[in-house]
Amino acid sequence: MAHDTDTILIDGSEGEGGGQILRTSLSLACIAGRPLRIENIRAARRNPGLARQHLSCVRAACKISAGECDGAALGSRTLYFRPGPVRGGDFSFDIRSAGSASLVIQTVLPALFTADATSTITVTGGTHNPLAPPFDFIRETFLPAVRPLGFGCDASLLKHGFFPAGGGKMTFRIEPSRANARRPIDLCTSDQPYRINARIYLARLPEHIARRQEKLLLRSPIEIADVEHVRVTDSNGPGNCVMVRLCGAVRTTVFTAFGMRGRPSEQVVEEVVDMAGGFLQSDAAVDRFLADQLLIYMALSGGGRYTTNELSNHLLTNIETIKKFLPVDFKTEERAGVHQVSCLPA
Ligand code: ATP
Repeated sequence: MAHDTDTILIDGSEGEGGGQILRTSLSLACIAGRPLRIENIRAARRNPGLARQHLSCVRAACKISAGECDGAALGSRTLYFRPGPVRGGDFSFDIRSAGSASLVIQTVLPALFTADATSTITVTGGTHNPLAPPFDFIRETFLPAVRPLGFGCDASLLKHGFFPAGGGKMTFRIEPSRANARRPIDLCTSDQPYRINARIYLARLPEHIARRQEKLLLRSPIEIADVEHVRVTDSNGPGNCVMVRLCGAVRTTVFTAFGMRGRPSEQVVEEVVDMAGGFLQSDAAVDRFLADQLLIYMALSGGGRYTTNELSNHLLTNIETIKKFLPVDFKTEERAGVHQVSCLPA
């Protein structure tokens, strides 16, 4: 395929060197209508190149924009992608592994918001995966955070899918976002006091695991008001995760840790309690996962600011990627352990 002169070049080994550089680049290539060449894909990972989840992201980006690409193969470390115009419609994708369905949807979501018509997108894969946003986080934390900026979307879980069996399914209905209806983000004040509750998912595993996790949660230093048990019966394989949900007057923040074969429940509960505890102590408005996921929407909605308790490498890398596609600049400032991230037109 002949490569165009206005192609944006991305080095996938920069910063975090993971899949997010690819996903953000695909999203913004569709929106900017510019071809993309990305090299050294996921160079900092043990298994560099495109894994199934990333390949599904590439295919999804091609599909929604009638785009073309070179290098869309498992393990590929270089990709050329030329998007066409993004059109709303009904899309469905199967990752064919436990790769995260949320991450595939998050790749095409920004572009589908800019489409001319309502879209639905259904993805089969993992719905509750380590190192990716679990469905609960998407529905309760992420979507409510982008809605006031002018990005309205509803999500439903059709079937649970845990690592390694996958086979879960989620569906999203995306309303077009009119540029003049977008609002800058302003998320700088904490939503404390929170009502704190926990949610434990257990699929095809013995009950005593969830009972033990409940006891550990109730003994933890954070004050959990109640524990909800979700007994999953529709998943293809076993699964377990523990969530701590901080419910404020206007926002809910969901933290998740995953149980795995050979991983004691003490570690699972400690991980989720530490994440939630660190956030609670900081007085920040946005947790570190939402912080990196909000950046694209912030850039598309004319800027604004938010506070977070941690500047992750994901966040810093995502800022650099976004700046290569959109005429925006970002600033980070720290005050008493809280980081304020602002976005302004460049
Ligand atoms: P890799 O290249 O690391 O294999 P990947 O494609 O799975 O990568 P990353 O580049 O690591 O992805 O990006 C993971 C995304 O998932 C980030 O946006 C991060 O905020 C989000 N994420 C990870 N864990 C959680 C969690 N527990 N809750 C919400 N979001 C999460």
